[in-house]
Amino acid sequence: MAVDVWKRIPVREQDPKVRATNFEEVCLGYNKEEAEDEATRCLNCPNPQCVKGCPVSINIPKFIMELKEGNVEKAYQTISESSALPAVCGRVCPQESQCEGKCVRGIKGEAVSIGKLERYVADTAREMGIKPQGATEKKNKKVAVIGSGPAGLTCAGDLARIGYDVTIFEALHEAGGVLVYGIPEFRLPKEAVVKKEIENVKSLGVKIEKDVVIGKSVTIDSLMKDEGFEAVFIGSGAGLPRFMNIPGEQALGVFSANEFLTRSNLMKAFSSDSTTPIMHPKKCVVVGGGNVAMDAARTALRLGSEVHIVYRRGEEELPARKEEVEHAKQEGIIFDLLCNPVEILEDENGWVKGCKCIRMELGEPDESGRRSPVEVAGSEFEIECDAVIMSLGTSPNPLISSTTDGLEINRRKCIVADENNGQTSKDGVFAGGDAVTGAATVILAMGAGKAAAKGIDEYLSSK
Ligand SMILES: Cc1cc2nc3c(=O)[nH]c(=O)nc-3n(C[C@H](O)[C@H](O)[C@H](O)COP(=O)(O)OP(=O)(O)OC[C@H]3O[C@@H](n4cnc5c(N)ncnc54)[C@H](O)[C@@H]3O)c2cc1C
Repeated sequence: MAVDVWKRIPVREQDPKVRATNFEEVCLGYNKEEAEDEATRCLNCPNPQCVKGCPVSINIPKFIMELKEGNVEKAYQTISESSALPAVCGRVCPQESQCEGKCVRGIKGEAVSIGKLERYVADTAREMGIKPQGATEKKNKKVAVIGSGPAGLTCAGDLARIGYDVTIFEALHEAGGVLVYGIPEFRLPKEAVVKKEIENVKSLGVKIEKDVVIGKSVTIDSLMKDEGFEAVFIGSGAGLPRFMNIPGEQALGVFSANEFLTRSNLMKAFSSDSTTPIMHPKKCVVVGGGNVAMDAARTALRLGSEVHIVYRRGEEELPARKEEVEHAKQEGIIFDLLCNPVEILEDENGWVKGCKCIRMELGEPDESGRRSPVEVAGSEFEIECDAVIMSLGTSPNPLISSTTDGLEINRRKCIVADENNGQTSKDGVFAGGDAVTGAATVILAMGAGKAAAKGIDEYLSSK
C-alpha cells in the first residue's frame, strides 16, 4: 500500500469501551508492515533535530534506517547504545515535546512516529531474544547505585557496559521504581516489558539487592568506608506525596495517588485474591491534572468507579500528556476543570461522602508563565463521592539526605548535583533523576543517570 508521507501510520488500540473494564495494554503497537511503512517517512536528515530533542541522544535516523532495511537487531543495538529501556521509553516518553516535537516532517505534516518505532524495535528484539552488548573488559572497581528506577538502571547499565562492578540497592521488593509501582499495567506491562528490560540490564552484569533501605539498613557512608564501594549514585526518586491541608483530608477513603497506584500495581490489589486489597470506589474524585492523576483516574475507572478529575486550571493548562488526556476522555472520565476542592465531607463513621469544591477563573500569569487560578467567590458546590485521590505532586524522601554526612539539599529537599556529571557536594557521591529535579520524566531521569555514569567513570579513572 502506498504511504502518505504527510500522515503517520495509525497505531491500533483496544476499543475504549472494552479497555475501560480491563487492565490490559491500551496501545497495541505497530506490526512489521506498519513499522516498516512508518520508517519510510523518515527523511534521514543530515543534521537530525530529533536527536537533539532526545535527552539520551539516541541515533534516531540510524535506527529507523536499519529498521527500514529490515534489520531489527542492528536497529536495537543502535538504540541500546544510548538507552537501557527502549520498550519503556517507546511507551511512556513525552515524544511530542522531545524527538517528535523536533521532527522536520512535522513542519508541514505529521512527525514520524518515533516512539512507536522505538517500541516496535524493542519489542521485536525481545521476542527474538536479542540482548544488549556488554563490557569486553572488567575494571576492578565497585560502584553502588541507590534505587532501581530509570535513573539508577541507566547509570548502572552504562557503568557495567564499561566494566565496573555495579550493585543496585532497592528499598522495595521489586525493581523498577515508578515503572513498576506507579505507571499502570494498561500503559506499561510489568512482566512482558519492564521486567524484561531490567533482565537486560542485569545481563550486563549489574546486581540488584532488593529490600535494602539505604539510610536504615545501611548508610552511604558505611557503603563507602566498610563495603569497598568507591563511588555511589543516588537515584532514589521523589516518592513522598503532597496533600492540600484542607479540612477532612484525614477521612477514610482519602488516598494519595502514590498509595492508590502502588496498591493496585505492585500489590495487585485489583485482583480478587489480593492479600492487600484496595477500596473499589463507586464514585471518586481525583484531584490534579498531571500524568499521575490520569493514571489514578483510569485505574479507579477500571475498578468500577465513576471518576471525576478536579483540576484548578483549564484544559489547555493540563500538565498530562495530550494522549493520556484523550485516552481518559475516550474511556469516560469526567473532567471538572477550573475548580478546586476546599473541604472533604465525612459521614458519621469518618468515611468520605463528598468533596466540596469552588469554581476558579484564570488570572495573571505567574513566574512559570501559567495563568494563576483565582477563586470565584460564592461558587462552592459539592460532588458526592466515596473516595478522593490526591495527585498534587511528590517530593524526595529526606531519609538519605538526613543520614549522609555532607550531602547538600535545596529548599525543596532535592539533592544538589551538577547537571553535567551528577557530582554532589560529597566526594565520590553522585545523584540524578527525580531525587535531584523533583518529579519529572522517565527520559530526564535516564539522561541524568547517563551523565552521572560518565561523571563517575571520569572520577574513578582520575583517582
Ligand atoms: C503514576 C506516575 C505516572 C508517570 N507517568 C509518566 C509518563 O507517562 N512518562 C514519563 O516520562 N514519566 C512519567 N512519570 C514520572 C517518571 O516515572 C519519573 O520521573 C521517573 O520514574 C523518575 O525516575 P527515578 O529513577 O529518578 O526515580 P523512581 O522511578 O522513583 O525510582 C526510585 C527508586 O529508588 C528507590 N528508593 C527510594 N529511597 C530509597 C532508599 N532509601 N534506599 C533504597 N532505595 C530507595 C525507590 O523504591 C524506587 O524504586 C510518572 C510518575 C508517576 C508516579
